[in-house]
Amino acid sequence: MRTGKRAVLVGPNKPLEIWEAPVDPPTGAEVLVAVEMAGVCGTDHHFYLGEVAMPGPMVLGHEGIGRVVECGPDVTTDSAGTPITEGDRVYWVPLKPCHRCHACTILEDTSLCPHQSPGRFRDPLLTPFATYTEYSLLPGGMTFFKVPEDTPSEAVIAFGCAMPTVLHAMERLGQIRFGDKVLVQGAGPVGLAATLVAGLSGAGEVVVIGAPASRLEMAKRLGATSTIDLDVHNTSEQRVAAAQEIMGGGADIVIEAAGKLPAFGEGTELVARGGRYLIVGLWSAPGTTELEPRKINNDNVRIIGSALSRPRHIYKTIQMAQQYHTRFPLTDVVSHRFGLEDAQSAIDAVGRQEPIKAVIQPGLEA
Ligand SMILES: [Zn+2]
Ligand SMILES: [Zn+2]
Repeated sequence: MRTGKRAVLVGPNKPLEIWEAPVDPPTGAEVLVAVEMAGVCGTDHHFYLGEVAMPGPMVLGHEGIGRVVECGPDVTTDSAGTPITEGDRVYWVPLKPCHRCHACTILEDTSLCPHQSPGRFRDPLLTPFATYTEYSLLPGGMTFFKVPEDTPSEAVIAFGCAMPTVLHAMERLGQIRFGDKVLVQGAGPVGLAATLVAGLSGAGEVVVIGAPASRLEMAKRLGATSTIDLDVHNTSEQRVAAAQEIMGGGADIVIEAAGKLPAFGEGTELVARGGRYLIVGLWSAPGTTELEPRKINNDNVRIIGSALSRPRHIYKTIQMAQQYHTRFPLTDVVSHRFGLEDAQSAIDAVGRQEPIKAVIQPGLEA
């Protein structure tokens, strides 16, 4: 029987352990995949710190690209109907909407399905589709898509789950009008994905607040017209003043991609009258914060929240990678690579915000 190694988080702040476990052959609509590249997400670091509840050991990782090893007897295509066979490269984000709940069926918004992921991450033997692992077994109904051979894996995984999340959020935001001034709070994968999409959507200015310098440099290569360095402008007053000076006032659209609670109040100060504020980075940042509601009222500001993504946004992420990887340095976004045995170093590096994007490659020689 085939076995595979997995990096298991046994408890908050405990070093990841490498467990070897049997890998079941696929049955029914399952697909067995050999992981080529797993994205290391800020959310994984939040799990590691215990900021997201985890009642038991779990395999980390929810961003994956791998080669199909074997398809279950019921599988002939990917989730978009493209024929799939052994050796094909596929991309998946392990969301599996139930299609049997109010969100899925009545709201027709699978991103709100309460059954689509978290409970399934918890048991390392029952989470065979996580990505810090040599093999993933994708259950029937989990969305996965074929990656065209002309499209580098790095370009697809560049922003990890951030690009599908941003494409979903941009749909919820609505149109970016030609010439709009867009301000992005945060230069991690979500902020960088938002920067790229805002520029491609017709924004006149894209100003990015973030750090460190390497991420801001990448933001410029992805279309930012100006950047504001958090390490230089380290108070909220300084950042608001710097942004208003660059834009000659507030931003038509502010995108929160900082993942830090205080960014929310600051963002409301940065929105122009009649503007929109898109909240996309606070998924794993619980808590309350101060803001002045009167400004939202009197300035006709719209605040829009957006969580996770829907299957089409995962598909569109691949399309974007295929279309733009030669025009933008998408492959360079992957700045750090780690072997599976080194998964802890990857988590630590992401915690220190060193990489632009880190990936784990189970096949990487130590
Ligand atoms: Zn559902
Ligand atoms: Zn992620």
